[in-house]
Amino acid sequence: MTTTPVLTPSAAPAVLDRIESVTLSSVTLPLADPISDAKVFTGRQRPMTEVAFLFAEIRTEAGLEGLGFSYSKRAGGPAQFAHAREVAPDLVGEDPNDIARLWTKLVWAGASVGRSGASTQAIAALDVALWDLKAKRAGLPLAKLLGAHRDSVRCYNTSGGFLHESVEQVRDNATRTLESGVGGIKIKVGLPDSAEDLRRVRAVREHLGDAVPFMVDANQQWDRPTAMRMGRRLEEFDLVWIEEPLDAYDAEGHAQLARALDTPIATGEMLTSVAEHHELIRQGAVDVLQPDAPRVGGITQFLKLAALAEHRNLGLAPHFAMEIHVHLAAAYPIEPWVEHFDWLHPLFHERLETREGRMHLSDRPGLGVTLTDRARAWTVDRAHVDTAR
Ligand SMILES: [Mg+2]
Repeated sequence: MTTTPVLTPSAAPAVLDRIESVTLSSVTLPLADPISDAKVFTGRQRPMTEVAFLFAEIRTEAGLEGLGFSYSKRAGGPAQFAHAREVAPDLVGEDPNDIARLWTKLVWAGASVGRSGASTQAIAALDVALWDLKAKRAGLPLAKLLGAHRDSVRCYNTSGGFLHESVEQVRDNATRTLESGVGGIKIKVGLPDSAEDLRRVRAVREHLGDAVPFMVDANQQWDRPTAMRMGRRLEEFDLVWIEEPLDAYDAEGHAQLARALDTPIATGEMLTSVAEHHELIRQGAVDVLQPDAPRVGGITQFLKLAALAEHRNLGLAPHFAMEIHVHLAAAYPIEPWVEHFDWLHPLFHERLETREGRMHLSDRPGLGVTLTDRARAWTVDRAHVDTAR
């Protein structure tokens, strides 16, 4: 005789621990020099002098702590902080292990302002903190919790290749960066004078030699004809990729470039949801996907689009936030790249080791980072949440 299983519709997940409090900090990181990419030269943005970080620290009744962060360049930091403060009470009393369910709860709490943009970026800080906490509970580096394919990831530097510096300075920066163990060099292009772009690219390629991996990034400032013309002229430099040649939302234009050029096309950093990335992937717009976990809503969402990217055999080069992304890149099956920026060094006690062109995972549990006193001192707003809504 067979028996019919009895479903218990009210069954709730078992509770193994509970979130006691969430502390949110809005931190303004000053940059040593005002930073300019192509968006400044086209008049769309002012030079960047600081980066706003949203840190989330989650404590549980069992005495565990998780640290996560999100960020915003130029405008948006106060909005991320305000949204996180509004939804954080929904976490208090919840089991921090149930991250997927909690992400859904948080996004629906504020769904009226959308499930992308500043709202999901606010949730990202909380989501990353929950993943940090889960990995610490397991006693594992985050990459190991996710399932790592490697213990180090190819890395390239961006922070030495901006447009406010002369090509001589960019070449000196590249020399120092390569000596520090970083493997590749990316420089910014997209100047109003394309001939000047090509002069800078040629000068840096000649300085690096043929063997060093080299990328360029136009930060969305070319139109379609310019991107095609520049793409063809750049083929001779054997670039690893051309990044953001077009507006981030022009999937069709990127797909045309990807078909026409031998040099791979990379984009995705400006997108703030899995759905937006899915559209790029669906249209064949990208050879190297560049998701940003803090921008797309955290690690939970990043893993979904990494699965989509793997299904299409795409390259992966997560944008910025290497302290998070080194773990996520290590867990991607196809050999990825991680982007090296030195800007965040003052925020964390720990340094990621770069050696022989690769960034190495540490054996510290979780993300493996802790906040410095300087990061605390740069806090401009703080909220401690220990009461459920
Ligand atoms: Mg970029």
